[in-house]
Amino acid sequence: MNGLMKAPCSECKGKLRRKTITQEFEREGVKVRISGIKAWVCAQCGEIYFEPGGADRVSQAVNCLFALAVAERQHKGRLHARVS
Ligand SMILES: [Zn+2]
Repeated sequence: MNGLMKAPCSECKGKLRRKTITQEFEREGVKVRISGIKAWVCAQCGEIYFEPGGADRVSQAVNCLFALAVAERQHKGRLHARVS
């Protein structure tokens, strides 16, 4: 699965490229970071588009990481995860 998505960016009509991205989320002072997320990124404006269902899976993973970070205080408010 390489190359370009058929649909252009809905923001600027730029071309979307398949990329592996890192996203950081913060909630109540706890930061979690997930790297290795596959998504489509606009080459012009940087808008991120997930595969169908992809955003749901990412938000599920983020919720799990927040739950873990709150339960396991040894992470000092930061938790990282790698998706591959
Ligand atoms: Zn764009």
